[in-house]
Amino acid sequence: MEDELVRLKSVALKALDSIEEPDALEPFRVRYLGRKGEFTLLMRKLGQAAPDDRPRLGKLANDTRKEVEGAFDAKKSELSGADNGKRSGAAPQTDLTLPGRAVPFGKLHPVTQIMEQVCGIFEGLGFAVAEGPDVETDFYNFEALNIPKHHPARDMHDTFYISGSVLLRTHTSPMQIRAMKEKPPPLRMIAPGKVYRCDSDITHTPMFHQVEGFLVDRKVSFSDLKGVLTVFIAKMFDKDTPIRFRPSFFPFTEPSAEVDIGCVICKGKGCRVCKQTGWLEILGAGMIDPEVFKMVGYDPEEYTGFAFGLGVERIAMLKYGINDIRLFYENDLRFLSQF
Ligand SMILES: [Zn+2]
Repeated sequence: MEDELVRLKSVALKALDSIEEPDALEPFRVRYLGRKGEFTLLMRKLGQAAPDDRPRLGKLANDTRKEVEGAFDAKKSELSGADNGKRSGAAPQTDLTLPGRAVPFGKLHPVTQIMEQVCGIFEGLGFAVAEGPDVETDFYNFEALNIPKHHPARDMHDTFYISGSVLLRTHTSPMQIRAMKEKPPPLRMIAPGKVYRCDSDITHTPMFHQVEGFLVDRKVSFSDLKGVLTVFIAKMFDKDTPIRFRPSFFPFTEPSAEVDIGCVICKGKGCRVCKQTGWLEILGAGMIDPEVFKMVGYDPEEYTGFAFGLGVERIAMLKYGINDIRLFYENDLRFLSQF
């Protein structure tokens, strides 16, 4: 077999040497290096060699083949260079029948997709979109939202402080204050954006996305809130998704509610995701607390309003059946390209 390899190598190199036209390259490649070429056929004979000789012969065969491949590549570039030289001055020849080269393109991140979907639904309901700073002051993030210093609700926020009264916003609700301080009612607005909390596990990341929404006008009632959220959930999930309001507490709304939807996985029968309850918590909402109106100079006797806040990652997880929030931020293309 060794002899055969040496012979094949010299025959192949000789044949390669005599090639002068690029057109002759492909037949050469097929004959010697192709899947059914001479090298492959010879390699098949390796099985007949004595077991002790096989590793050595295998390596020799591989090395010989690589040598011929190297010579082939060199010939190929030599010929293409010569080719260009020969044709320089003539018009470039373009084969219009060749298929075009596919341009790889990216897609929106699943969180961005859901964010745009959420904003799109509320814009359709006449809400304006406002974005604010990620770095906030204690006043906008807490104080004006009826969370004074030493209020126990501050503990729930696990805040990243930059200095004494400057922090990374823990929710997008500060935009509510900024907007109300700037304009008189009526106001109808959503504030999407990044928020930060010092927390990390399979349902929490230190940075995540929220959409906060609020509406202020005369005679706004809880049923308006319920109507808007019912439309939102029907559009975001299935048209017939059941929805329920559970009494809850937030410092900046009174009364407050957690909003649940019928489990999208088990359709209410009970499963691991919904902890056998048939319901999934999807957002928090409530009527804006009169204390908040006083902070921005609105008359709580004249105006009422509602507010709600939802986690974008949470909605994406429920919609796509993702069980670990951290997957969104590992930048693994195998994960991201599925959306
Ligand atoms: Zn379930």
